[in-house]
Amino acid sequence: MAKFEGYKDIYVFVEQRNGVIANVGYELISEARKLVASIPHMGFKVVGVLLGHNIKDQAQTVIAHGADKVIVADDAMLEGYSTQFYTDTLTQIINEFKPDSFLTGATVLGRDLAPRVAARLNAGLTADATKIEMDPEKKDEALLLVTRPTFGGNLFGTIICPDTRPQMATIRPNVFSMDAPDASRSGEVIEFTPKFENTDAKVVVKEVIAKVVEGIDITKCDILVGAGRGAEDCLDMVQAVADELGGAMCASRAVVDDGFASKDIQVGQTGKTVRPSLYIACGISGACQHVAGMEKSDMIIAINRDPQAEIFSIANMGFVGDVKEILPLLKEEIIAA
Ligand code: FAD
Repeated sequence: MAKFEGYKDIYVFVEQRNGVIANVGYELISEARKLVASIPHMGFKVVGVLLGHNIKDQAQTVIAHGADKVIVADDAMLEGYSTQFYTDTLTQIINEFKPDSFLTGATVLGRDLAPRVAARLNAGLTADATKIEMDPEKKDEALLLVTRPTFGGNLFGTIICPDTRPQMATIRPNVFSMDAPDASRSGEVIEFTPKFENTDAKVVVKEVIAKVVEGIDITKCDILVGAGRGAEDCLDMVQAVADELGGAMCASRAVVDDGFASKDIQVGQTGKTVRPSLYIACGISGACQHVAGMEKSDMIIAINRDPQAEIFSIANMGFVGDVKEILPLLKEEIIAA
């Protein structure tokens, strides 16, 4: 008999707000497709889980993004996010369908929801992960190896849930790439009706005030010019180069802590995770906490006057010298290319 009889498939919570699906759901579905492909003998599928109200039509979009099946709980009680009703619904879905793994974005919503569901189910949860793999040693089960930064980002720990199912994890947005949707994909849509034992909300959300993001959202930029402490005396130039290249400026935590940039543009473990086509690191040492937020960029060009700087170990191209001298020349080369 299999160790976890009845548990199968990788489930992904597809987060939506006001009917708009967050990209992290699609990123996790794309990654889940790779995971199931790595264990073809298990015959696992990728299942999206969509909660909300008037959101049934979105199921087909989730299938286009790679889900084989979508479970939709469409209920007026799930109109806005409620910890209580979303936890009730997800717990029921997991108890009924028995997913082998359940992945959620490490968003504000996901970080609130996933631990509560895990606690109700007595399941293991790895929070804030940056990498997931299948254990290649295990042939008769799909054991996830889930990696996350630990000890202030100085180490990475790989965590397993060997004795419980589902294996749960929250994963940071932007860590995985998102496959292009394929509208011709077909899949199954299952409608799930949640049962709420107590419909009196313990917490009532009176008003939602959306944060106004000032400037550009760096997680959506294709070209980023990163300013580190070594570029603090030429930030206007870094900004101008970013503008000329059609991108945006971002910064290391040192620059934010020194008061030269807003936290909104900080890249790294305690900032944002970015994966642009081009990341130009200017006067950035390459501390692991910074690298954790930008190492998935397609092309990394580093400028640093210290030839031993750590940033060169992850850069595709590096220039040893002063940012003020090299960045303008590099910009001309990029524009001419
Ligand atoms: P420095 O380490 O001071 O490096 C400056 C670099 O610029 C040096 O390599 C120097 O050689 C070079 N340089 C100096 N002048 C020039 C010049 N004229 N031309 C070219 N090169 C020059 N950091 C983040 O960035 N993001 C995070 O999210 C983050 N989270 C953290 C979380 C925790 C829990 C902790 C403990 C730390 C965190 N850090 C984070 C801080 C991180 O450890 C580093 O301190 C920080 O990234 C250093 O920033 P920096 O490389 O800009 O500055």
